[in-house]
Amino acid sequence: MRTEGLYIDGSRTEAADGATASTHDPSTGEVIARFAQAGTADADRAVRAADRAFRTGDWSRASARERGQVLHRLSQLVRVHTEELAQLEARDAGKPIAAARGEMGSVATTFAYYAGAADKVGGQTLPGHADGTLLTFREPLGVCAAIVPWNFPLVITAWKVAPALAMGNTVVVKPAELTPLTALRLAELATEAGLPDGVLNVVPGPGSKVGDALVRHPLVRKVSFTGSTEVGTRVMQAAAEDITRVSLELGGKSANLVFADADLEACVDSSVFSVFDNAGQDCCARSRMLIERDVFDEFVERFVDRVERLRVGPTGDEATEIGPLISPGQRESVEAHLQGALEDGARCLTGGQRPDGPLADGNYLVPAVLVGAEPAARIVQEEVFGPVVALLPFDDEPEAVALANDSVYGLSGSIWTRDVGRALRVARHVETGMLSVNTSSSVHIEAPFGGMKQSGIGREQGLPALDHYSELKSVFIAND
Ligand code: NAD
Repeated sequence: MRTEGLYIDGSRTEAADGATASTHDPSTGEVIARFAQAGTADADRAVRAADRAFRTGDWSRASARERGQVLHRLSQLVRVHTEELAQLEARDAGKPIAAARGEMGSVATTFAYYAGAADKVGGQTLPGHADGTLLTFREPLGVCAAIVPWNFPLVITAWKVAPALAMGNTVVVKPAELTPLTALRLAELATEAGLPDGVLNVVPGPGSKVGDALVRHPLVRKVSFTGSTEVGTRVMQAAAEDITRVSLELGGKSANLVFADADLEACVDSSVFSVFDNAGQDCCARSRMLIERDVFDEFVERFVDRVERLRVGPTGDEATEIGPLISPGQRESVEAHLQGALEDGARCLTGGQRPDGPLADGNYLVPAVLVGAEPAARIVQEEVFGPVVALLPFDDEPEAVALANDSVYGLSGSIWTRDVGRALRVARHVETGMLSVNTSSSVHIEAPFGGMKQSGIGREQGLPALDHYSELKSVFIAND
C-alpha cells in the first residue's frame, strides 16, 4: 500500500519525523490508505512555503482575472475527476456513493462560483473631498489556515480554499485525521490547474498538534475553522494571542418546525433526510423536530414509517441512503447520548441498534426516533452528531419559536406551513443563520452559510465569504 505524502510547496513529501498513519473504511473497518502524518515541524514548513509564495506575488499580485482562470480550470478538473474523488470520499468518510458524487459536484460549483467572483469585487472611490481622491483597496491577508472536520471533507475544504484563493491569499489546509485523502488529491489538481507552488498546502495530522501549531503560527494571518464548539473555543483563545483573524463554523442543534397546516407528506419525506443524511453527522441536522400538537400523533406515525423504509446499506451500493458513522468511537458516543435520553425519560419508537448481518463489521447505527423528551433534556439540548432525532409537540406559534430558540446553538432550521405570513414571522424570530421553508434545502453557494450564538462567527459561501479573506485599505491622494 502506497503512503500518501503531505502536500507542501507543490509536491508530495514525507513528514519531518517520518510519521505515518492509516485511514479506515467506516463501512468495513478495513485500512484503505496510509498517509504521512504531519507534526508541528511540518506545519511550520507548510506555513513558511505559503508565506514565501505569498510574498513572490505570483499569485497575490496576479490579476484577479488570472486567478479566476486558474480557479475555473480547477473547477473543471474536479468535474473531470468526479468519480475518482467520489470513490475516495465514499471510502474514506463512509458516504453512500451517490451522496459522495453529489458532494463532488458541489465542490466543482464552489470553485466555479469563486472563479467568477474573483474579478467582480474590489475597492471603491468615496465622495466627500474636493482636494483629493479617497479610495479603498481590497487586499489579500497572506497565509490562511483552513481547519476542516471529517463529515464533509472536500466540500468544507472548498468552501474555505476557493474564496481565500480568489482574493489572492495562500492557504494551508489541515484536514481531519480520519479523512485526509480528497484534500491531498485536490492540491495535486490545483497544481495541474496552474496554481503556483506553495499557494495551496495540505498537512493532515492531529488537531491538538498540527491544528494548534497553525493557529499559533505568527505568519498565519487568518484561521478558518469548522468543527465542534468545544475545539472552536480553544482555537479562538489561541488565535487571540496574535490577534489572528478567525471565522468559526461550529456545532448545531437545529429545529424543524412543523405547523398543522403543512403538507405533511412532503414534510415527512424531506425531513427524514434533514436529520439522517450523512448518518446524522451534519452540523445542519434538524435533530429537534417540533410539531404542532393537533397533528403530532399523525406526524409521528408517518415519520416512523418513513424512517423504517430508509435504506441503510453498504456505501458502494447506488441505492444506499444511510451509511455508517465515521468511527467506532463516534458510534459509541451516539449510543451514550441515546442511553442518556432513555434514562431522562424519552422513549425510542424505532432504531438505535447496530445492524447485524453483512453490515456488522461497519460503524452502522439504525436511525432512531425519540418521543417524550423534556425540552430541557440532554437529548434536546446537546449535539449528538449521529442518526438520532427527538420529536416534541408545541401548542401555538409563540411556543414553537420559544422552543426553537431554547438552544445555545443557532445554525440552521426549517419551517413547514402553508401560511406565508406565518412563515415570514417565524423566520424573522428564529435565532439561526439559515432557514428553509417547506423544504429542507438551506445550503446554497450564493447564500451566506454560518451560525448565530455558539454555532459560530462569520459566514462562508456567497460573496460575504470574500470579506473574511480580505482587508480594506483606505488611501487618500491629494490633488496637488
Ligand atoms: P473537531 O472539533 O473535533 O475537529 C475539527 C478539526 O479541528 C479537525 O481537523 C481537528 O483535527 C482539528 N482540531 C482539533 N483540536 C484542535 C486544536 N486544539 N487546534 C486546532 N485544530 C484542532 O470536530 P469534528 O469531530 O471533526 O467534526 C464534528 C463537529 O464539527 C460537529 O460539532 C459539527 O457540528 C461541526 N461542524 C460544523 C459545521 C458548520 O459549518 N457549522 C460543518 C461541519 C461540522
